Amino acid sequence: MDRFPSRAAFSHLQLGAVKFRNCGESVDVRRKHGEIECKTAQPAVVPQLTEGVALASLLAFHRRTSASTNSRTRHDFYGDRERAPDPPNLLGAGHEDIARRIFGGKISGQDVLMRHTLFGFYSRLLTEDANKKWAEDLANCRRVPIAAYLDTKSGPLSSLGASGALRKCYACIDSDLVQGEIPGWRVLHQLPFLSHCVEHSQHLVSICPSCSHAFERGADFRLPIDPCRHCGYAQYPVRTPELCRGQLLLGRLCSRVFSGLVPDLEPSRWVDWVNATNAEFVNAEIAVASVEGHLIELWDVSSIAELSSVLGYTLPGDFVGQELGLAMSSRIWLSRLLVFSAACSLMNKNPTSGNAASEELSEVNGRFELLARLAAASAIPQGVIDRLIAGDAVSAVVGARMVTIGRLRRFLRSLPREISSLLQKTGKNGRQQRRADSPLKETKHDELLAVSRQALLDAKAVNANLTRTEAAKLFPSRYRWLTRHDSEWLAAELPSLLPSSGGVQGWFSYFDNEKERRQAYQNVVLEFLRHKPGAGRSEVYKEQRRAMTWLLQNERAWCDLHVPFQAKSQSRFEWYRGAEPLVLPEPVLKSRYRDDDERTALSKTAVLRMRALNPHLLRSELVRACSSSINWLRHRDPEWLEEHLPPTVRDPKRK
Ligand SMILES: [Zn+2]
Ligand SMILES: [Zn+2]
Repeated sequence: MDRFPSRAAFSHLQLGAVKFRNCGESVDVRRKHGEIECKTAQPAVVPQLTEGVALASLLAFHRRTSASTNSRTRHDFYGDRERAPDPPNLLGAGHEDIARRIFGGKISGQDVLMRHTLFGFYSRLLTEDANKKWAEDLANCRRVPIAAYLDTKSGPLSSLGASGALRKCYACIDSDLVQGEIPGWRVLHQLPFLSHCVEHSQHLVSICPSCSHAFERGADFRLPIDPCRHCGYAQYPVRTPELCRGQLLLGRLCSRVFSGLVPDLEPSRWVDWVNATNAEFVNAEIAVASVEGHLIELWDVSSIAELSSVLGYTLPGDFVGQELGLAMSSRIWLSRLLVFSAACSLMNKNPTSGNAASEELSEVNGRFELLARLAAASAIPQGVIDRLIAGDAVSAVVGARMVTIGRLRRFLRSLPREISSLLQKTGKNGRQQRRADSPLKETKHDELLAVSRQALLDAKAVNANLTRTEAAKLFPSRYRWLTRHDSEWLAAELPSLLPSSGGVQGWFSYFDNEKERRQAYQNVVLEFLRHKPGAGRSEVYKEQRRAMTWLLQNERAWCDLHVPFQAKSQSRFEWYRGAEPLVLPEPVLKSRYRDDDERTALSKTAVLRMRALNPHLLRSELVRACSSSINWLRHRDPEWLEEHLPPTVRDPKRK
C-alpha cells in the first residue's frame, strides 16, 4: 500500500477515521474588490470522525482537500471569529461552531467535546458545575486559563506542553491504512504522562529520529502519515518498549476514563469510592500502606517520591495518604488516577465476595450501555442487538430488520474486544437456556449430536490421518453441524493445525496481537514443511492458505527465506494427497455404493466416460478432472489405471 497518498488520492479515500460525504450545499460565489470570494454557509462535505480521533486531524484534512491557506482554513472552521483558537486545539475551543459548521449539526457540540478532545478525558475528573462552566468558556473561545479548572503546576495537560509536538503511534497508522481509513491524531496519545499507545503498547513518537525536529506542532496542519517536513524522513520504526505494569494499568484506565466507563473518579463519587476502599482494607492506614507498596511494585521504583520523576510530574510525596484521607485538592488529578489503578489491581488480585461481585455487575452493565451507544452511533436498531444478546445467530437477526448482514458484521467486527466477548458469552448462555426450555428440541439435539459424532469416529477409524477438509468432504452436513454445536469436542477429536475462530460466531478475532498471529502462522508452515520436505510454495499455499496469505502479505522476507519457490523434484509429479486414498467409512460408503467393488467399477466408468467425452485431455488434466476416482483406483487397480490413462508427456526441456 502506498503510505503517502497524493492529494488526489486523499480526496477519494472515503472511509474511516475521517469520512466525508457530500451534502450538496450550494456555494455562494461573489466578487469583492476584484477578487473572487467563495463564501460557504458550511463546507460542502460533512465529515464523520471516529471516536477518539483529535480535531487536529480534521483541520489538517480540511486544509489539504480545500487547498486553502492556513488562515482561510481556520476561518472555515470557526466562523467569523475575531480570535479563532490556535491549532491543534486539543481542548476543543469553539466546539459549538465546529459542530454546526463542520458536522452540519449532525452531532452536538457536547459530542464534539466528549469524543474528539482532551476535554472528553479531563472533564470526567471534574464536578458537573465545573464541567458546564468550562464547556461554556470553550464554546465562546474565551481564553480562561485552564488552571481555573485543573491543576497545571504539577505537569502539563497535553503533549504540547511537554515536548511541543503532537504524538503518534505507527501501529495505529498502519491499522488505519489497512482499514482504508485516513490516519488521524489520537486524543489519548496526547496525554503527556502516557509514553505508549494503549491499543498497541508501542512507543509514541513526536520527534523525527533523523533530524530531531518535531513532526507537527499543530500549526502546520500535517497528518500522522506525512513524512518529516525538514528532512523527509518517512520510515516506520516499530519500537515496542519495555513497559512496567504500572504504565500498562494507567494506560488502560485512561482509555476507560475517556470512554466514560469509570464514573468513580468524579470528585463527588470519589468520596464514596475512597470510603468503600478504606473499609475494604479494614482502615485507612492499612489502605495507604498497601496501595503505596503496590504502586512501588507496579512501577518498579524504590520509593513513592521516585514515581514523580518517572512520570515527569511533581506530586506530593504523601499523595496516596492525601487521596485516601480525602485531603487532596480535586483539581489535582494524576494522583487520583494512580491511586485508583493501584487499588483496583490490588482488589482484583484478592477478590472479596459481595463488593467485587457488584462491581463486576456494574461493569457488565456499563459495557451493555456502551454497546447500546455504539449501536446507536452506527444506526443498528436496538432490537437487533437485543436478539444477539439473547443468543440469535447473525443471519437469523437480519431477516426482518432494517440492517444488512454486511453492515451488522462490520459493526460487530469494530467492537472492542471486551464487548464482543461479553456478547459472545451472553449469546451462548441464551442458546443453552433456550435449549433447556424446550425438551423436544433437546432430544433432537441429542440425536443429532450422537449421529454426527459417530460419523466422525467411523471416518477416523478407517482413516488414520483424517484431516478436517477430508471430513468436511465425507459428510458435509454432519461436519457443519459439529462445527456449530460441538466445536470443542470436534477440536479435541480432530485438532486443526490453526486455532479456529469457532463456528458460526466466527467474527471474533482469535489472536491477541500480531506477534501471536505471526508466531502461530510461521509454526504451521514450518510444521507442514517438516512433514513434506520437498514441497514448493504453491503446494504450501494450497494446503495452508490462511497462514500463507497472511505471511506473504506481512512477512515476505521470512517466506523467501523458509519456503522455497520451486518444489524439489520428488514431489513434482505427486498428484494426490498422502500415501493412502481416503477410505469411506461404512455408513458413507453404503449411502453411495453397495461395496468397495462397486466403487471401483464406478470409478473406472467415470474415468472412461470422461476420456471418451474429452479425448483432447492430457494426463494431468484428466487426473484433475476426476481426482477422487483416480485416487481410489491408484490404490485398488494401478495396472488398469496405467493402461487407460493417456501417456505421460515429458517436457523435452526438463530432464
Ligand atoms: Zn497504536
Ligand atoms: Zn526529520
